[in-house]
Formats: sequence, C-alpha cells, structure tokens
Amino acid sequence: MTGEPELQTPVQYVKGVGPVRAVQLAQLGIQTAEDLLTYFPKRFDLRRQVQAIGTVHDGEKNVTIAGEVIEARYVPKRQRPYFECSIDDGTGSITVKWFHGGYLRNKIAPGVTIAVSGAVRMFDGFLQLINPALQILYDVSGVDLDSNELLPVYPAGAKLSSGHIASIIKKALPTLLPLVGEWHDGAFLSRRGLLDRRSAIAAMHHPEDTDHWKQGRRRLAYDECMLMQLALAVQRASDISRPAHAMEATAAINARIRARFPFQFTAAQNRAVVEISADLARPRPMNRLLQGDVGAGKTVVALYAALTAIAHRKQVALMAPTEILAAQHYRKVTGFLAGSRVRIALLVGAQPEKSRRYLLAQLKTGEIDLVVGTHALLGKKVKFKQLGLVIVDEQHKFGVDQRSSIRGKGYAPHYLVMTATPIPRTLALTVFGDLDVSTIDELPPGRGKTQTRQTTARNMPEVLRFVCQRLAAGQQAYFIYPLVNTSEKTELKAAISAYEQLRDGELSQFKVALVHGQMKAEEKDDVMNRFAAGEIQALVASVVIEVGIDVPNANVMVIEHAERFGLAQLHQLRGRIGRGRQDAVCFLVASAVNPIAKRRLEILCQTADGFKIAEEDLRLRGPGEFFGTRQHGLPELKVADLIEDFELLRLARRDAFAIVNEDPALAAPHHQALRHAVIKTYGGRMGLITGG
Ligand code: ADP
Ligand code: MG
Repeated sequence: MTGEPELQTPVQYVKGVGPVRAVQLAQLGIQTAEDLLTYFPKRFDLRRQVQAIGTVHDGEKNVTIAGEVIEARYVPKRQRPYFECSIDDGTGSITVKWFHGGYLRNKIAPGVTIAVSGAVRMFDGFLQLINPALQILYDVSGVDLDSNELLPVYPAGAKLSSGHIASIIKKALPTLLPLVGEWHDGAFLSRRGLLDRRSAIAAMHHPEDTDHWKQGRRRLAYDECMLMQLALAVQRASDISRPAHAMEATAAINARIRARFPFQFTAAQNRAVVEISADLARPRPMNRLLQGDVGAGKTVVALYAALTAIAHRKQVALMAPTEILAAQHYRKVTGFLAGSRVRIALLVGAQPEKSRRYLLAQLKTGEIDLVVGTHALLGKKVKFKQLGLVIVDEQHKFGVDQRSSIRGKGYAPHYLVMTATPIPRTLALTVFGDLDVSTIDELPPGRGKTQTRQTTARNMPEVLRFVCQRLAAGQQAYFIYPLVNTSEKTELKAAISAYEQLRDGELSQFKVALVHGQMKAEEKDDVMNRFAAGEIQALVASVVIEVGIDVPNANVMVIEHAERFGLAQLHQLRGRIGRGRQDAVCFLVASAVNPIAKRRLEILCQTADGFKIAEEDLRLRGPGEFFGTRQHGLPELKVADLIEDFELLRLARRDAFAIVNEDPALAAPHHQALRHAVIKTYGGRMGLITGG
C-alpha cells in the first residue's frame, strides 16, 4: 500500500523484532516493516475498566482485574484437572482457576502479569474466579489499565499469539509511523473528510473508540481504491494514447448497415450503437465493454461496429471463447451479410493445414474483411493488413489477461468486448475499470417469458411428463448436468448415465443426444448443429452449452444439481431458452439443499434481472468465487471491501481519474509517492509505467 522505501526494510531490523521473531512473522506473511505496519487487528476486545482486587466481592459478575502472578500450579486430578494461580495487584490477591487448564502451564508463571474477566465466587472462604477470560499482559507498563480500552486482536500464528504481535507492533509503531508519507495535501484530505495516513494507520491498531477506527479504516480503504483506480486510469491513458483509425459511421454507412437487418434495433441497442460509433469515429482506440443479457442483441450491435470498420476498408476480428461459438457467429454473420461484398472467413483449429495457410495469406493481403475464430486469432502467425477492430465475445469467461496481447504495434485496433454476464457495479469499476461500458438492458420484442421453478429429484417424473408434452408439441429441451471440473471423471459419468437413462427410459420416443466438454470438437459441433436443425429433440449437456448457443425452438431446460452452480451461471444457462416466441420453463432441480442454497435459487425464480442476480451472487459468494477462478484479475485488498465500500470506491475512482487526466503518467513531482505506490502494487501485473 505504500511506496516509502524505508518501509521496505526487512522486518528483522525493526526495533524489538530480531531474527527469531522475524522468522515467526514471516509465517504470517510479514516480511517488511511495511507488512508489520499494515498487519491489522481482525477485531478488538473491549476491556472494561480494571478494578482493584481489594474491592471485589462475592457474587460480582463481570469483574476485570489485573495483577502479577504470585504462584501458579497445575493439579492433574483424573476427573477434573485444573490450573490455578493467585494474582496480586497491591490491593489484595485472588485465586483464579481454569479447569482442564493444562495448556496454561507454559504461559502463566510467577512474575507474569495477567488480566482476567469473569464472575467472582466464594469457595472455602476464598474469593475465586473460575474459568475467566484471560489476557496476558506482556508489557503492563504500556497498557493503560485505568480506562476502558479496545484491545487489538491480531490474526495469530503457530508461534506468535495475538498478544505477542500486539506488543511487537506497539513497540514498533513509534519508529515506523514517522516513515509513512502523505499522498495528498491537507486541503484535499479535509475536503474528503479523510484522516492523514499516519493517524489512519495508528487508528487501525489503537483506536480511541469504534468511530476512530472506522475513520482510520476509511482512509486506508480509500487509499487502496485510489491505487487500484490509478492503475486502471494510467492503463487506460496509455491504451488510448496510441493512434487508431477514425472510422465514422456516416449517414450513408449507417443506413446501409441498418438495411442489413430484418428488424429495427431496440432503443437499448441504439444507445449502444451511438456510444460505440462515437468511439470509432475518434483517432484513438475504443476500449469498450458491451454487456447485456443473453439474447439482448449484443452480437448484432457488434456487427454494426464491424460493418462500420469494413466500410472504412479496415479488417475486423471477431473472437469467441469456443469453436462451437465461433462457428455459430460465423453462420449468423454470413446470414446477415448474404449477398453483400463483405468477405468473411472462419478460422478454427480443426481446419486442414492447407486451407488454413491460404486463409492466413488472405488475411495478410487484406482479402478478408471479417475473420471469425477463437482466441487462436491472436496467435503470432495471424497477420492482418489493417486490423481496425477486435471484437471479443467473452460471454462469461472473462479473459481479461488476453486484452493486452491484442494490442499490437503501430495503429491500435479498436476493441470491443461483449459479455452476457451482467457485471455487478463494483466489478465493472475494478476488473473492467479501464473500459467504458455500454449496457443493453432490454430484450428485442416478441420474446416469450421464461418461468423458473425450483423442484427436487423426487418430482422428476412430473418434470419429465412436462418435458415430454413439450417435445411432443414440437419443441426442444435441454438437460444440464454440472460438469464444473472437467477432469472430474465421476461428474462426467453422471452426465453420461443420466443421458442413457433418459434415452432408454422416459424420452425413448424422442431423439436424445449428449454433448460434453471432453468430446472432440467435430463431434460437439455435429451434435450442436443437429440440435439447432431440430434433428435432436433433447440435448443432455454439460455446461459447454452455457456459452451463447442460440436455438429459439428450445424452450424447456432442466438443470440438475442446480445448487452446484453459481447464480450468475444459472442465469446464463437459463438464457439459452426463451429465445423464441413461446414461453419457456426452466426447472432447477436441487435435492436436500440447505436453506441458504434454497434461498439462492429462489432469487432466480423471482427475477430475470441479470444485474440483480449478479449483485446477489457477488454478495453471496464474494468476488473471487463470483468469477470462479483465481485468474480473475481482481486486486487484492487488505482493508477495502468492494461490496461494502462501493461509494468510497466511486469517490476514489473519480479522484484517481481526475489526477491521471491532468498527469497521465503520474510524472509530476507531487505525484511521485502515489506513482511509486501504484507501481509497487500493480506494476508487475499490469505492465504499467515501470520505466523511468
Ligand atoms: P446476444 O449476442 O446479446 O446474445 P444476439 O445479437 O445474438 O444477442 O441476438 C439474439 C437474437 O435476437 C438473434 O437471433 C438476433 O438476430 C435477434 N435480434 C437482435 N436484435 C434484434 C432486434 N432489435 N429485434 C429483433 N430481433 C433481434
Ligand atoms: Mg450472443
């Protein structure tokens, strides 16, 4: 979180640490002075005012006393062993007893100062505390026992108790805090109502009260958000600093493109088109995220952008996450462009080497306008004559890391990424914070409604009867099995045996097929194509179908083990149906699930609003899980909580973008501390401004 070089000193050299403690601290991830300074308590215990032992009397509850241990012993009685000691604070002494307290033998010894809280009782004529809460005070001189105090509780290690850590940090703070520099001027801080950094760090360790702690936390959370947003802003500034081809959608071009589509664009599509066209018309690269539910008409909007580029004699690459989807895009695009002069090609791995080489040559000479493929399009061998626009259909697979590899040398292509997972606002500002966002929040007219029902395996016969009716009426159905981990053999087996059961049992009078991730690409394609053509009526599938398959006649979906999927993922899956005019039904089959899982699924039954679902999913599962992978590009935050601190994040974002707007590379002298901090935190990952 900081860029102060003095704070990078190995923790061993911090006053009061030394080599032995340094090894123990390292196990907690504390390597440097800064790490120690920012190793914050996980909570605070309120220690009530300490009472003089001489004033304590029988029957008092909630007494806190502190004193020196005079004697201590362990009594290993068979039935109920106990540890007892007596403590003295100068006003009196008292006996303290812990049953089964053997573990205290090497903690409490004569001479040690402890504080205990609990109830006082008279036994055998002596006052005693039985099993009280214990605090070992390593440095009683430094602890103000006269006032109520928030005692920091640090995440402890195997060899280091919270108390150890507290005393190390307490000793170190006076030398370390002065090394902490300020990043903003006082006027700015008071305008924002932020503590200075030193006070904020101090407040995190030793707050005067809860409010004080909150203030400290707020400043540090702001700082984390600020660094993250600065990194994004700088990244963005550098992305758009390259020249790009300005490609204006003139009135003539606009009219020509729209004539290609057998429908009017929705208002939401038009808004996106306006935003994208404005970007394309500028001589610097567009960096835009186009989001909207499945079927909202993103691909059509992307195609509009593609045709704008092609009208300017630039090439376009459209990339899909899988070959199936690439092929589907290719079919769709060729459909819309039938009879036009646009030269389109599909580039997938399965192609024979010879035609592939021919295709690559055509791309290089500019004889192909629009190439559709997978991420293989980013391979070194693929050369374009003049690549003007890259469209990435990510669906829900956020391949953010690939973004940088798209940007070659010289003129930068415009860049548009489509996603069908509505991105919660926080994530839109973090992972995708360097992109502009267009949202299509309205479905094209004439779609049926999708009803979602939660059910259990016991009701399967009923569900299957319903499915059979629909199939008999000429519709199609999906059966989805979770194949979350593709290497998991048992899951695959479950999907296969379910398929066999349906094929030979209830659905025997229909054509049933299976598609899963471990099938060869051609096999998959073949099955999907036959399903799309209506030759197959029921498709048993693992999640491979989740991404973008479009079969309007398929209007029933049965999702088995729905509880194993994330909400956003279920929403995606459900989006495969309801694409035609008929009403669709989605069954979420989940047996013996806990109430929380049940509530989760209820959210899906209640709303079709992808944003609501995404926010809920994020709240329930946390950002890492939301993405379902560690490669999500989320910054690691120590203090800030992306969900709770959303307003703060927005504030920091505004401030960070304003700073970078003035000073795109953070080169100004008064931005050096910030710049170092950004590089230290994000430089390696984002390939940022590391030179100079
Ligand atoms: P997405 O990429 O968001 O999933 P698509 O662009 O593939 O959505 O559109 C889904 C379906 O809706 C396609 O069959 C497409 O032709 C059709 N479609 C798109 N926009 C409209 C519109 N404005 N009016 C009617 N149909 C549309
Ligand atoms: Mg699509």
